[in-house]
Amino acid sequence: MASQFAKKFTVDGGKGFSLAKINPRDDSLFDDKEKAKAQTAEDAEAINQLQDRLYAEGGRSLLVILQGIDCSGKDGTVRSVFNACGPIGVEVTPFKVPSEEERAHDYLWRVHKACPSKGIIGIFNRSHYEDVLVVKVKKLAAPQAIEQRYEEINDFEKMLSDNGTRILKFMLHISKDEQAERLRERVTNPAKQWKFNPSDLANRKLWDDYMAAYETALKRCSTPHAPWYVIPANHHWVRNAAIARIVRETLEEMAPKYPPAVGWDPKSVVIE
Ligand code: ADP
Repeated sequence: MASQFAKKFTVDGGKGFSLAKINPRDDSLFDDKEKAKAQTAEDAEAINQLQDRLYAEGGRSLLVILQGIDCSGKDGTVRSVFNACGPIGVEVTPFKVPSEEERAHDYLWRVHKACPSKGIIGIFNRSHYEDVLVVKVKKLAAPQAIEQRYEEINDFEKMLSDNGTRILKFMLHISKDEQAERLRERVTNPAKQWKFNPSDLANRKLWDDYMAAYETALKRCSTPHAPWYVIPANHHWVRNAAIARIVRETLEEMAPKYPPAVGWDPKSVVIE
């Protein structure tokens, strides 16, 4: 069950969801920037401890999907929300333009292979949703094939969920102005130029098409077993605080436990 906090971000497809109604600058859920940052650090530490239990328990996994337009802050989110976690139990997978081998399979093949095994938190930087976003906007597949994918994705995620993977999907929602600002920063700051890709400008021209494709995907694929959360992401600190809180609450609800000693009694073990 999603908490009251998480519900504020949850996409409810049935009630006329509209992405345009969500303000990317919204910071009203937090009183104070410094407090929110401190809370994020605390939540990140709690996530680390819960992740340790999840790993020890070894029976279930958590999949965190991050989607957003270029410059929406997917990498920054990973850095801030999971920075307290040791590398053993967390796997980050970026999904880029499919390789030749990947293209020779169905679109979920590479995704299924990257799903977290039991005990692991898997983080997807982009995901199978690219197959109904960029693929739709750039017409990289037949419309009928794309149309089928929403149901296929829901079925796929249901199967993962039935098999012990908890799924959280975050859309990092920034404004077009904010993207312009971040692109300018990438162009002018030598420490960020490596992140700039001229193709980002071509994508920016297709902003409205991307937003329409996002809205359709969010509406059609927000399910009880794999909800979509739209996170106002113009402010890094709001984005980080909201996602850290939802991830923490989800892990707390999963309540992973250290397995007890089985077949031996800790009191009777003598180590000399
Ligand atoms: P990022 O922007 O995620 O940091 P890149 O600059 O390498 O990393 O961008 C990855 C690119 O791969 C994006 O433009 C994205 O739309 C594209 N991509 C991801 N998955 C697919 C897919 N299934 N089909 C086509 N393009 C894809």
